[in-house]
Amino acid sequence: MRRFALSAIALTTALSSSWSLAQDKVLNLYSARHYQTDEALYNQFTETTGIKINRVDADDAGILARLKAEGSASPADVILLVDAARLISADAQGLFKPMKSAKLDAAVPAQLRASATKDGVTWTGFSTRARVIVYDPLRVKAADVATYEQLADPKLKGMLCTRSGSHPYNLSLFATTVERLGDAKGEAWLKGMVDNMARAPKGGDTDQVRAVASGECGVAITNTYYVARLMKSDKPEDRAVMDKVRVVFPNQSTTGTHVNIAGGAIAKHAKNMNNAVAFMEYLASPFAQNYFANGNNEYAAAKGVKIDNPALKAIGGESFKADNIGLGIVAKNMTKVQQMLDRVGYK
Ligand code: FE
Repeated sequence: MRRFALSAIALTTALSSSWSLAQDKVLNLYSARHYQTDEALYNQFTETTGIKINRVDADDAGILARLKAEGSASPADVILLVDAARLISADAQGLFKPMKSAKLDAAVPAQLRASATKDGVTWTGFSTRARVIVYDPLRVKAADVATYEQLADPKLKGMLCTRSGSHPYNLSLFATTVERLGDAKGEAWLKGMVDNMARAPKGGDTDQVRAVASGECGVAITNTYYVARLMKSDKPEDRAVMDKVRVVFPNQSTTGTHVNIAGGAIAKHAKNMNNAVAFMEYLASPFAQNYFANGNNEYAAAKGVKIDNPALKAIGGESFKADNIGLGIVAKNMTKVQQMLDRVGYK
């Protein structure tokens, strides 16, 4: 009887482990990216690996709030966020689990990933976007907006428009520029931009580009995919915006144009670790890179993957000198830059 009981337990265990194996062919993804091409991206992963993807779509802040609320009970395996500043702040809050993957080490350049520790690497960039300057050629000369530093030049007084200085896109750019300029010059640069503002910061990047086209602003800062999106829009008024402005990839003869990432990480309490690693590796594959990056008019993060995008080509963004400063600098300087913004009144 005792023997029977034991084997019954053994049988139950065997059954439940095969049941859980079947259940394990799953990946829980929390994504702040939602593009039409995502379906093809995820379907192909499921077809190749048999791993089903359960997706939670929310914005970056919503995902982070949810992860914190769920704590160790969180089902999240992989998290996709936009901008290094957000990945870094989630990492600092202990929401990620370091991973080791020779495939990712080989595929994605180190400056587009978190710094490696003995436990591995937390976040990895899967696409890149450049932060460029847009100007009105009727009011501004190209030579006067060739660098980020020139945005603080009194020549541009009353002309500059940006979204909030505290937005992650600007924080990342400012953190790397302050690193190069040093604290005193860096803060003076931020102050100079405030002095040049045409209006208090408001809206998103696209709003700044529109405001240059309408004549309200002479110069603005935007990520490349927003201008590509306007160029490809089926609304003639969007394309007309792009006819009125010019795009500059700044700092081509010096440090290079600031490049940021959309990227991913494994959740701290991931239950499907192997599937999570497989998915992260998949995102760096040429097939996935093409969907992930091109779906949002971005550049591939993986080495040797070229994205063919006519809109990016048209603005001179097919090949440009990118700033290769490690995005880890953003983590180092983020708090300091936020304090500088408060001091100089950059809203
Ligand atoms: Fe964006």
